Amino acid sequence: MNSLVATSRNFRNAARLLGLDAKVEKSLLIPFREIKVECTIPKDDGTLVSYVGFRVQHDNARGPMKGGIRYHPEVDPDEVNALAQLMTWKTAVADIPYGGAKGGIGCSPGELSMSELERLTRVFTQKIHDLIGIHTDVPAPDMGTNAQTMAWILDEYSKFHGHSPAVVTGKPIDLGGSLGREAATGRGVVFATEALLADYGKAISGSTFVIQGFGNVGSWAAQLIHERGGRILAVSDVTGAIRNPSGLDISALLKHRAQGGLLKDFHGASPMDSNELLVHECDVLIPCALGGVLNRENAADVKAKFIIEAANHPTDPEADEILSKKGVVVLPDIYANAGGVTVSYFEWVQNIQGFMWDEDKVNKELQRYMKNAYKNIKAMCKTHECNLRMGAFTLGVNRVARATVLRGWEA
Ligand code: GLU
Repeated sequence: MNSLVATSRNFRNAARLLGLDAKVEKSLLIPFREIKVECTIPKDDGTLVSYVGFRVQHDNARGPMKGGIRYHPEVDPDEVNALAQLMTWKTAVADIPYGGAKGGIGCSPGELSMSELERLTRVFTQKIHDLIGIHTDVPAPDMGTNAQTMAWILDEYSKFHGHSPAVVTGKPIDLGGSLGREAATGRGVVFATEALLADYGKAISGSTFVIQGFGNVGSWAAQLIHERGGRILAVSDVTGAIRNPSGLDISALLKHRAQGGLLKDFHGASPMDSNELLVHECDVLIPCALGGVLNRENAADVKAKFIIEAANHPTDPEADEILSKKGVVVLPDIYANAGGVTVSYFEWVQNIQGFMWDEDKVNKELQRYMKNAYKNIKAMCKTHECNLRMGAFTLGVNRVARATVLRGWEA
């Protein structure tokens, strides 16, 4: 299902449960601003090539708009729109003073050289620099982008507006990035998993896991789960999938990858079909890659008892229905992967304060935010007699709706 249709459907269901006024509902659904720009750069061989870049600023009722910039061939306006909307609910669920935005460039970053990526990032920044800012819209890394991308945006933006470290988060530490930001989404996923499992009288230690995606989020989540005694039975990335029924040695796998080895060539495991991974036997399934991977084709075959949505919108609404009938508990993306943007908020606060926190403080504060958000979602589940997805959506949407109404409508 189209990601914007899926996200909007969840929003509308939450609006109905909350009894939202139709005017407020409409104003929350339509994005504040949609930007589309053409980015033309010379390739290293001198030929010119154009890419289309987007920034969708969804809502700013609760504060500056916030969200990542994604470099991926499948970036399209609907996808960016849906992801921007999800950021609005996510920042509200996490209770950090932000609205939501998302950006992206339709490109294959793996096929571009470092200097081509730098030129592309600088041209994109030139096109949007007037529309982003410390108190308006603060980008961050997402799929296909990283701390280096943020460093180029910061440098290019600062040429126009003066040195402004707080204009992006997820920066390198040397440029004002926060300790703990790199691991934050994965660590937040683990805190969220702990909260959910504890609710069911279970723990990470003694549970089995399958993880789809071994990039920044998946590899950190795997490492932290492994450290806590969780048994990871299978993982995958774009190169393939591997399994080991007695549990993968994640430290050895990370070492293998750090030495340039492909995931699928790891010795301590046997290869498996990537499509089988999502329906592999386990207690907890953690999709950490693309959206829409759990859909009506495979949802009925899922064997996990719990799904932690570390990726953004990995579960189609149709799959949600099937999973719910099977009794599978789904922890929604707007809570489960909120650790990244929460530590982005800490980074922004540190930049504005001009004071650096130690990593222990970052991780402790992240844990506190994740625990509180879980408690608040559960309270909404009780009030509205709904599942965790609707608990999170009603929590987020209600907070944004309240801020919108308080601000008023007078022009
Ligand atoms: N791209 C991340 C997300 O989807 C982080 C966004 C941010 O830190 O602003 O939540």
